[in-house]
Amino acid sequence: MERGGLYFPLGNATPAGDRGPTGPPTSKRAISPQRLDVPLTVLPGVGRVLAGRFAALGIHCIRDLLLYLPFRHEPPSRLCSVSALKVGEAATIRVRVRSCSVRPSRRRNLRILEALLGDDSGTVLAVWYNQAYLEDVFAARPELLVRGAITHRAGPPRFIVQSHEVLSGGEEGLHTLGLVPVYPATGEVSVRLIRSTVAKAREFTVHLVDPLPARLVAKRRYPSRCEAVMASHFPRNESDALAARRRLAFEELLLLQLALLQRRARQKRSRVRPLPPPGSLCARFLASLPFQPTPAQRRVMAEIDSDLMASRPMLRLLQGDVGSGKTLVAVYALLRAVEAGGQAALMAPTEVLVDQHALRLSQALSSLGLDVGTLKSSMTAGERRAVTGRLAAGELQLVVGTHALIQSGVHFADLRAAVVDEQHRFGVRQRDALGGEANGRPHVLHMTATPIPRTLCLTLYGDLDLSVLDELPPGRTPVRTVLVPPVRQAAAWKFVRERVDEGEQACVVCPLIEESATVDEASATAVYAELAAGELGGYRVGLLHGNLPSAQKREAMADFAAGRTQVLVSTTVIEVGVDVPNATVMLILGARRFGLSQLHQLRGRVGRGSRRSYCLLFTDEGQEDADGRLGLFASTSDGFELAEADLRLRGEGQMFGDRQSGFGDLRVARLLHDQDLLQDARREAQHLLAADPLLERTAGGFLREEVTNRFGGLEHWLDRA
Ligand code: ADP
Ligand code: MG
Repeated sequence: MERGGLYFPLGNATPAGDRGPTGPPTSKRAISPQRLDVPLTVLPGVGRVLAGRFAALGIHCIRDLLLYLPFRHEPPSRLCSVSALKVGEAATIRVRVRSCSVRPSRRRNLRILEALLGDDSGTVLAVWYNQAYLEDVFAARPELLVRGAITHRAGPPRFIVQSHEVLSGGEEGLHTLGLVPVYPATGEVSVRLIRSTVAKAREFTVHLVDPLPARLVAKRRYPSRCEAVMASHFPRNESDALAARRRLAFEELLLLQLALLQRRARQKRSRVRPLPPPGSLCARFLASLPFQPTPAQRRVMAEIDSDLMASRPMLRLLQGDVGSGKTLVAVYALLRAVEAGGQAALMAPTEVLVDQHALRLSQALSSLGLDVGTLKSSMTAGERRAVTGRLAAGELQLVVGTHALIQSGVHFADLRAAVVDEQHRFGVRQRDALGGEANGRPHVLHMTATPIPRTLCLTLYGDLDLSVLDELPPGRTPVRTVLVPPVRQAAAWKFVRERVDEGEQACVVCPLIEESATVDEASATAVYAELAAGELGGYRVGLLHGNLPSAQKREAMADFAAGRTQVLVSTTVIEVGVDVPNATVMLILGARRFGLSQLHQLRGRVGRGSRRSYCLLFTDEGQEDADGRLGLFASTSDGFELAEADLRLRGEGQMFGDRQSGFGDLRVARLLHDQDLLQDARREAQHLLAADPLLERTAGGFLREEVTNRFGGLEHWLDRA
């Protein structure tokens, strides 16, 4: 087959011999996967230094190199003769440099290389910017493939070069012809270097064993792994490249789902003592509430009941929008353990939140004769010892704490249920630790107020059962959301003063400078000082940020909760902390810098009482709402809708703010784009594991090996995801 076949009519100019651009090489050697384990130095022209640079990209052996896939391809460019070039149309020409010169331009720092290029059909003047060194290169080796287009500009036609390659009898056309692959590159390892190195390893593709069962590939008419990898690096045409991408994305998602479901199976394998059915403590707790649980709360409590009565540990994720009443459900789960004679723990990500939970729990439970302990890193050694001693002795049945709960030295006499609030703020291993072997594998309920789009949920939490609180308690008036451009900000402050004069309270959230506590602190402190002396002069203004000592944080919260401060200026630490029904105004400075989900969390801090509440989004000069995000935010209070929009607008990485920083580790699949593949992979993973839980017999054990290779460090992967 000639290089390019139909697509690239190169005629007899093909030096690549019998190695077709797609399709496995026609090598007669037997397939031996071990041949892929060899270092890159087996490739001609790759020495130790170069291999070292590739290693920095995680490419250590030939297999790594072949599986280092392009993330896109340059739009196809056809080979054409010089006389057939059309203005504005990208094309590749095979030419000889006739003459060449460098001239300075009117702009400093810009040097223009002009070369007269010609083939049998004619000549064209081509232009390179700032690559004067090419003059010498072309003098030595004048045969080129050049990709680019003739500009629209007036005057004599000029060919603006996008890429070129000097022909030297090697992999001709690699950088200029057809669908040129584009790889994630670095300063040390350029795209060109990756391309040419991959091309040198082309022969090895044949040793790529397909880890997917043949039946499964055939059913979907996918190419084999070897074909797909070939078509991805050296696509013959767009449909080949597309089919390869789908197959490789499916494979990646299937491996991930297998890893997730196996992790779940491992956790479910342990046996726990079932809890007895709900008893009198829970009944008294529910009867003591000043309201009726919503139908959604009842449904989730029933789901939890059935988990707790089984002999497998509960692994459940409860999603519920801010204000949907997750705390009630959490307390119910905790009390189920307590009334069975066991212990229960609630873990929350910040001390502010722990204090608030502890306060609310003791208010709600003291009448039931229950004592609530707290455990925080800021406590003195003596305070800690008092609590851990009672936990170890089984004297304390209920504890609320931060990460301090999972640090060494904390032993429970009989932990039967645990709840992790705002669980996405913890690392996977931290979440696991609470429910782990050391704690006797209690039932665990994970909770999050960040609505997670279903696709993300299947990926990040594919190992958990899902419950959703999909209705808010009755009687809430939706929060009015208003965008405030600079010219209306004085009026907005006046409005804040009016609300406060009416006896209501307000929160002011400072712009996110960067997600560093120290820098954000500086911003909050400056805003606080400015407001206290200006717009809010004469009012009682408080300050809360993450860097305050915890006693001061607690004090700031308590002052605000009790109405001693009227306006609380804070960083985003307030996001998860505040439940003050009297707060009716949430004013967010520099709103543009926040993600929609984060804004949604902040807005959820008001509108908790009976009075009408407001969310005021301050926008910056000249940057009101260019992409319509804030307008969308103002128009809906549906957290799931906002989460989907956030995912769409800000990309997969931005969903969770500071800690979870992206799906960089999914190499081929794109969660938004590949939802159908994800569902398919999920179902297929379930089938495969139902028949062969350890994947010992599937695809000769290769599938299992691949899962380990790719997602063996699943916890690590999830933490970075
Ligand atoms: P979140 O899901 O954000 O944690 P909370 O559990 O803090 O929500 O509940 C928000 C508010 O709604 C609290 O003041 C709580 O007392 C109240 N609440 C919870 N459930 C109900 C209900 N069924 N009816 C009325 N109010 C409720
Ligand atoms: Mg909550």
